[in-house]
Order: sequence, then structure tokens, then C-alpha cells
Amino acid sequence: MAHVKLHIPGPVEVSEKTFKAFCSPMIGHRGQGFKDLYAKIQPQLQTLLSTRQLVYLSTSSAWGVMEGAIRNLVQKKVLNCMCGAFSDKWLDVSKKCGKPAEALQVEWGSPIRAEAIDRKLATGEFDAVTLIHNETSTGVMSPLVEIAALKQKYPDVMFIVDAVSSMTAVPLKFDELGIDVLLAGTQKAFALPPGTAVFVASPAALAKAATAKDRGYYFDFVEFQKNAEQSMTPSTPSIGHIYALSSKLDDFIAEGLENRYARHAKTNQMVHDWAGRHGFTLFPEEGFASVTLTCVNNGAKPGGRTVDVAKLQKLVKDRGFLIDGGYGKIKGLTFRISNMGDETEASMSPLIVALDEAMKVL
Ligand SMILES: *Cc1c(COP(=O)(O)O)cnc(C)c1O
Repeated sequence: MAHVKLHIPGPVEVSEKTFKAFCSPMIGHRGQGFKDLYAKIQPQLQTLLSTRQLVYLSTSSAWGVMEGAIRNLVQKKVLNCMCGAFSDKWLDVSKKCGKPAEALQVEWGSPIRAEAIDRKLATGEFDAVTLIHNETSTGVMSPLVEIAALKQKYPDVMFIVDAVSSMTAVPLKFDELGIDVLLAGTQKAFALPPGTAVFVASPAALAKAATAKDRGYYFDFVEFQKNAEQSMTPSTPSIGHIYALSSKLDDFIAEGLENRYARHAKTNQMVHDWAGRHGFTLFPEEGFASVTLTCVNNGAKPGGRTVDVAKLQKLVKDRGFLIDGGYGKIKGLTFRISNMGDETEASMSPLIVALDEAMKVL
């Protein structure tokens, strides 16, 4: 069967070069070869995240680390900032870990604002807050810099940030932000196969984790730190992923991180322009649209035109591209097109042509 190119917001298209690296001959995870591999990528990861902390590799999808952060860092009560399907689910996860948790819920399509978090944290009830930087279900990017600035006012609160669909596409300066955990899965903007997560924790987070009695085993942050100091992971990792990540980090550095960020902004604008040309509006509140995907309003809120999303998807698929038909309660009322990963203006052009053609038939 012919491959349909992925323009869904994860997993995204994986390059031949990346797959080749993924298929490198297997090595032992306690041997020098593995340590050399991890030691080679560690400074690259630190450059990517502008941090002096060690960056950890978890063989799990992002949710593993998202749950792990709750288990390691919540002792009193966690504030789960909720603005879409992924961020909403973090509240359930907190509760399933047996932690007292409270929602800071905003309407889907809106960002999380620093003032709202400030009001909640001012109660003194919370020792942790979760935030999804780029809420992939709604295409909304929340103002991370402003939110992270609250850490100075609430130094004892753990700031846990999911950057699953924004990491590598926008600058994320971990040490400068001053937050406590920053994490991402590899199948989104990294453009690697799914199955590994990358994360970093602050010294304060590590100190707090060390006092958490029931932090579990697989996602024990203290174990990640101890092992990373030896260029190892706590358990046998997906070594193929780490080869692939190494290859990818070389690509990032060859391209230049600033160029990579600019490329994402440009390819994202191509989709925005397409939507505008056809009379659609965007689902996110103005000024808060993601640069890695576009969530098109298709009747979820007033304004703009609407189309039969299933039909649009089929027409585009017949032309070789997979787009997403909306997520959760806004399925069909929105649709999503990803530009994250390796996409360039040249590689996006055929998708735009296919979308234009589909609109002629609809
Ligand atoms: C995809 C995604 C997740 C979930 O990732 P898994 O790899 O399925 O665990 C979490 N948060 C955001 C923002 C995502 O886009």
C-alpha cells in the first residue's frame, strides 16, 4: 500500500535518514558504546533546552513522564491548568495517582493566562502546577514566559511543563524560564518515531523527588539523575530511538536552531494563509495560535465557513496526505493540519495544492 504522508499533529513523518539511524546495530545499554552515545547527545540536548541540567531519556510516551512528574513532585495539591484534551486529562491522571488536584479550566480555544494561575497559587494550597505549553487538541500556545515568571513569586511550587508539540519548534530555555520540569515525546516536533520522551528537571525538583516516598520505580527522577550522571538510563532504553535522536540532533545543529524555529513559523503561516483564502477562521483565540499545527474552526465557534471534514480528509488522503479531523469534543467541528518536524516550504507546497484541489470538489 502506498504511504500516506502524515500531516496529523503526531506522529509526524519520519525521514529516511532518521530511520537508518534507528536501525543501527544493537549495543548493550551498560557498555561503553552506549555511554559514548548518550555522552555525545547530552551537550546537544542541553544546547537545545538551554540548560546546564542533565537531560533524561525515558523509554515511554510523554504520558509516562507526565504521570511520573505528578508522582515525584506532588505532595500537597496540584493545580492542573486545563485548556484542551491533553491538559484536561492531566487532572484525571493526578487523581489516579491519588493526589489532591484542582482544575484551572478555561474554554477550549483560549490560552492559560498567568493572572489566573497567580490567583490560584495565592491561596497557598498548591505545591505543584501542570501546564501544557502547546495544547495540541486546540492548537493553542499559552504564554509560557509570563507563566514561568510566577515561579519567582512561588518558589516552592513545582512548575511542570509539557512541551510535547512545541519542543524543537520554538525556543525553550529551561534554566532561564526557571521552571522545574520540561518534557516532550519524540513523535511530534522532533520527528522521530513514537516511544521515547526527553525531559529535564531542576535541582529543586530533584531534591523534592528524593523526599517523595511513593514516587514509583520506572519514572523515579532520582534514578534518572543518578544514571544520567553515568551516561546511562535507569532501565534498558529503546536504543534505536537514541541513535535516531543523535542523528536528529546533528540535523538541528546543522540547520541552526534559529533557522529551525523560523522554518516552523513559515510553514505554519502557509497553512494559516490557506485557511484564510478559503474563508475559514482559526479555532485558537487570536494571538495564541500554535506554530506547529493549525486548528481550523469548522463550526466549533461562530464565524468562518464549514465543510464536511470526513470528505475533506478523504479527498486529501486520495492525494497522498493524512490530516486530522479534530480531537475530543471538537472532532468534526475543527480539523488540524501539522507542519511540525522536517517540513519545509517546498515539502508543504504539495499539501497546500492538495487542500486547494479538495476545496474545489467540496
Ligand atoms: C501527543 C501529546 C501528548 C501525549 O503524548 P503520548 O505520546 O501519547 O503520551 C501529551 N501532551 C501533548 C501536548 C501532546 O501533544
